[in-house]
Amino acid sequence: MDLFEKCDQYTIAREAEEGGYYPYFIPLSGSEGTQATYQGRPLIMCGSNNYLGLTTHPKVRQASAQAIQDFGTSCTGSRFLNGTLEMHEELERRLARFVGKESALVFSTGMQTNLGVISALIGRNDVVILDKEDHASIVDGARLSYGETRRYRHNDMEDLDRVLSSVSDEKGKMVVVDGLFSMGGDLADLPGIVKLCRQHGARVMVDDAHAVGILGEGRGTAAHFGLTDEVDLIMSTFSKSFASIGGFVAGGDQVVHYIKHHARSLIFSASLPPSNTAAVLAALDVMESEPERIRRVNELGDRMRSRFKALGFDTGPSVTPIIPIIVGDTMRTIGMWKGLFDAGVFVNPVLSPAVPEGQELLRTSYMATHTDEQLDQVVAAFETVGRNLGMI
Ligand code: PMP
Repeated sequence: MDLFEKCDQYTIAREAEEGGYYPYFIPLSGSEGTQATYQGRPLIMCGSNNYLGLTTHPKVRQASAQAIQDFGTSCTGSRFLNGTLEMHEELERRLARFVGKESALVFSTGMQTNLGVISALIGRNDVVILDKEDHASIVDGARLSYGETRRYRHNDMEDLDRVLSSVSDEKGKMVVVDGLFSMGGDLADLPGIVKLCRQHGARVMVDDAHAVGILGEGRGTAAHFGLTDEVDLIMSTFSKSFASIGGFVAGGDQVVHYIKHHARSLIFSASLPPSNTAAVLAALDVMESEPERIRRVNELGDRMRSRFKALGFDTGPSVTPIIPIIVGDTMRTIGMWKGLFDAGVFVNPVLSPAVPEGQELLRTSYMATHTDEQLDQVVAAFETVGRNLGMI
């Protein structure tokens, strides 16, 4: 059996490409936040995680460019060896203060943060407990660990109680959950999770990739619920509101120190480049000095959700500026994506197995920098395409 046979048999993506309905890996020739360019044609971007619109903020651009002038383009080594700059440590102090924890540790991506943190903490005698809709990087972190993985039904506290009750008291336990779910746009029931974890002696880690910059005055889900002290670890990424790339985990000093010396994705990978580090520091300054951006992105989310609902679209469980439009069928979702793309609106189709079959959706997300006129055009395009496809 030739190992590559499966590659030859993998034809579905090429067929879609040839048919002109392949919605992934679309090469953009330009992107200025709310507007992208594809083959010379402008598209209103409603598929980005640049929630505060900071990728093009003058202060963020300037700080990033200056860091290249001052430090060059790369640290060419791991944090563990030659790749730690004073700037990384300054960022760690700022982030710890920002989310309300003792210490923080910066990784080169959010994915690497979850891989490293979970696999460092969950040993042979431990159990990691995940929400069924947790992000792939959490699932993969659990797979990399030597411990056992258990799952509970999405946001179902009875089911979480059942799972926690079934784990022996002899085992170390940690629940890892998205604070703001990236597809549904709904929030984890953090008060319920914290209560159950206390009862069962389990630790809690929140992945706030999408919540930082949106919830809790930008500080995330724990701050939103007033549970910062009750959550043990908060991680987030720099690839969304922080307008860069990278990630961090924040928590108690001793736990972060342990992770720093055990997380393989930190130790065996090169550190965050100076330009990306400086961009996050500048983005933090802007988040603190321009809180109106946080208000605006939430207002736009509320406004778009009501407008979609008024037109008759199903926005699922969303309560945030991440708004899914549930279509419920693969070909119809692709059809709707294509209609919107041709009408100048960029959204992301999400198909099974990324969502359960029958729950196929278009993921839309909003930025503080979208103009009212852009969003009127988006709603008009949705209305036309939705009517053409008989969805509304
Ligand atoms: N966690 C969640 C919930 C995410 O949505 C993502 C990215 N989509 C990540 C982690 C990984 O972040 P990064 O892009 O920095 O690797």
